[in-house]
Amino acid sequence: MGESLGVWVFIEVNDKKIEGVSLELLGAGRQLADKLNVPLAGVLLGDGVKNLASDVIYYGADIVYVVDDPVLKLYRTEAYMKAVISLAEKYKSEIFLYGATPNGKDLASAVATDLSTGLTADTTMLDVDLDKRLLEASRPAFGGNIMATILCKKHRPQMATVRPKVMQALDPDHGRQGKIIEEELHLREEDMRTRVLRIVKEVTKTANLSEADVIVAGGKGMGDPQGFQLIHDLAETIGASVAGTRDAVEAGWLPHELQIGQTGETVTPKLYFAIGISGAIQHVVGMKNSELIIAINKDPNAPIFDVATYGIVGDAHEVIPKLIQQFKELSK
Ligand code: FAD
Repeated sequence: MGESLGVWVFIEVNDKKIEGVSLELLGAGRQLADKLNVPLAGVLLGDGVKNLASDVIYYGADIVYVVDDPVLKLYRTEAYMKAVISLAEKYKSEIFLYGATPNGKDLASAVATDLSTGLTADTTMLDVDLDKRLLEASRPAFGGNIMATILCKKHRPQMATVRPKVMQALDPDHGRQGKIIEEELHLREEDMRTRVLRIVKEVTKTANLSEADVIVAGGKGMGDPQGFQLIHDLAETIGASVAGTRDAVEAGWLPHELQIGQTGETVTPKLYFAIGISGAIQHVVGMKNSELIIAINKDPNAPIFDVATYGIVGDAHEVIPKLIQQFKELSK
């Protein structure tokens, strides 16, 4: 524990591009590193990724550890874990953050097991206790009814996976200087137990949802499938994507990949309509960082109004047709 120093971020690369969540984590990691007065490092693995190291510095890192090796061309637990473990054993870190993406979660849990350290999954808030130099990783717990702050007191590094779109990336500073350390690990393909033969991309509407500028989300308050059709009508009028709550999904009004929240998607559109949605914490964690939130609910005390920028108290079945009419007028 004594030698551990510095905050590390796993830099996830897909299709030769750094994942947004890794840039967000460099922003969050920068704050933690500044508080602890230690360097922030990015761990960049892959094949032909060296050229991305300067971007890692522009987004806030002081150091980038690069392992550029053909064996790391596509993500595989074993190869990536070996690379991370070698770096972690050689350079040591006190905090190590990963995006809570499928690969980030997979890698973090394998690394935590190998290093016999703790891992907090799906974190939504990060801070440090400066006196004890402890990472405070918070996440919803007990069905989202409370926020639990989880500490890893006795082992290093303290690890966490962090949900995409929760932290804020810094604006890139193209004048920023840092140290790039290339490591030759001589990984051998024949030592790997798995081969990636082919990658088949799933085409879902979810991809659109995370990139959508405007989302119209409906909840159980829409009443029935016919009522929920109003959500589609409004979305179509303003060129928005449709989404909803878990209760709306469970009612069969929309597919699971369009569910927003703790067990669904996290989104940060410019505008989020929350209609007939009570504002349960499990839903709110997935949309609270939207730039502007407009809530429509017939209950003036609905918790959704606590996170809304603007609130309309009224029956959605009356309000939505009026909104559609107004939007149509405006676009004439
Ligand atoms: P309700 O809570 O029933 O709210 C309906 C709202 O509509 C009410 O506020 C009501 O006043 C209003 N309303 C009714 N009629 C009208 C009308 N005519 N006009 C206007 N307003 C009206 N939920 C998620 O959304 N996403 C998740 O990822 C998620 N994950 C979960 C994970 C766990 C472990 C658990 C335990 C729960 C999870 N939930 C999730 C469920 C969550 O707790 C809530 O039950 C759910 O979000 C409520 O959905 P709702 O707002 O559509 O329905």
